[in-house]
Amino acid sequence: MADDRTSTKPAASGWLRLTQKMRSDAFSPQSSVILDERRIAPISKLIEIDLLENGGANARERWVAGQLAALMAHARTHSAFWRKRLNGVKNGDLSRTPPLQREELAQQVSGEGCLPLSGEHGRAALRSTSGSTGRPTSVFVSDMNGAYNELRSIAQCLWDGVDLEQNRLAVRIRPVNNPQGYTIQRGHTWGGPLQAVFATGSNRILTIGGGDPSRVLRELAAEPIGLINAIPSFLREFARAAGARKLRQLGVKTYVALGERIDEDLQDICAQAGIAVHDTYSSEEIGAIGFSCARTPGAFHIATSNVVVESVAPFIDVGGEKVGTLLVTHLHSYATPLIRYALGDIGQVAGRCACGHGGPTITRLQGRLASLLKLPSGERRALIVRTRDLMMLADVREFRLRQTQADLIVLELVTNAPLSEEAREQFERFIVSRAGPEFRAEARALDAIDWGPGPKRLDFRCEV
Ligand SMILES: [Zn+2]
Repeated sequence: MADDRTSTKPAASGWLRLTQKMRSDAFSPQSSVILDERRIAPISKLIEIDLLENGGANARERWVAGQLAALMAHARTHSAFWRKRLNGVKNGDLSRTPPLQREELAQQVSGEGCLPLSGEHGRAALRSTSGSTGRPTSVFVSDMNGAYNELRSIAQCLWDGVDLEQNRLAVRIRPVNNPQGYTIQRGHTWGGPLQAVFATGSNRILTIGGGDPSRVLRELAAEPIGLINAIPSFLREFARAAGARKLRQLGVKTYVALGERIDEDLQDICAQAGIAVHDTYSSEEIGAIGFSCARTPGAFHIATSNVVVESVAPFIDVGGEKVGTLLVTHLHSYATPLIRYALGDIGQVAGRCACGHGGPTITRLQGRLASLLKLPSGERRALIVRTRDLMMLADVREFRLRQTQADLIVLELVTNAPLSEEAREQFERFIVSRAGPEFRAEARALDAIDWGPGPKRLDFRCEV
């Protein structure tokens, strides 16, 4: 039986802090009503999220069990694909449900389309994810999923003490059909369903189709940014092109990362520019999965009001520790059920966090297997190479590392001046010093790196 102690998380989620942040005009001037209907509904949803994620474990487990049973009953009723998979499995029993692979998901989506939704879910739209593998995945997401994600991200800002009155720039990387290659949408608030309750700064949504981020710089400089919400590779490329100081000049104070792991280079850039970093574990198919703990490095508190995360076999040896494969169940995935979905990431799940947070926590999120070096023993290890390390050897504009053979690491380099034979050897020695004596390295000077069609630019890729 799980213990029912409440979280010892500080009063960030306390009512007093919440009411202090509320707009003064949120309170009704009528003497008998404090908050009107329009404000009560979103704020009660916010309180539900807070109670679920920071409240007692027993209550949460009961709620999750009910959600799981309802989702599985819905999937079984409306999908032949799921009826077959759940044959003989009791509604709510994850342990006997087979993991859902990407290919199987694609089969369900293309064969059955969107499952019927009741009114509370609103309409559904097909969303294609970019995917770091180059193969896009498509799922149907409902209006309710979008509204939940907006609420959940505001809840996190309140818990983390992020200033809501900052302007926000949200960056989306999608194909754009105009000659300049990007669009900017402007709004007066990023409060979403909570805009009548909390005052926020302005909202800009930059949709960019890839390529060179520096071209949008002038437009972004029109007003201070404050909070930026983007995938790490966008911000890293932006900072590499414009310089870390530029981020500061643009008024960036807070960075909420999503979609990928933040690499060492970007951590350096943010530290240099004095930007507070809040890391998020999320996927476009699911939305919020976990949020980085402010006090325990590398830990992510799981968004238990949205997902169940399990760490299962096969276990992989990473730096001498066994790390499992992550399966994510999206509790609100009524349009396209995602039950024990294998996102392709590896990590460990603990019942609570070292900081005192009483909910499930991912402790060793390693991201994709392909982002780790594979040793001849089968063990995996992170290969950490910062741009500044390479800059000591030559004026490097872009680089990528690829493990192309069991013992070979290829360093692709784009430099501002031709690379001497001596410099090439220095690079090779440096890579071996980082990767280990089991490896040899080959430095290749290129005119450009072929990053492929997706927006994600992974500095390291294991191809064996
Ligand atoms: Zn924690």
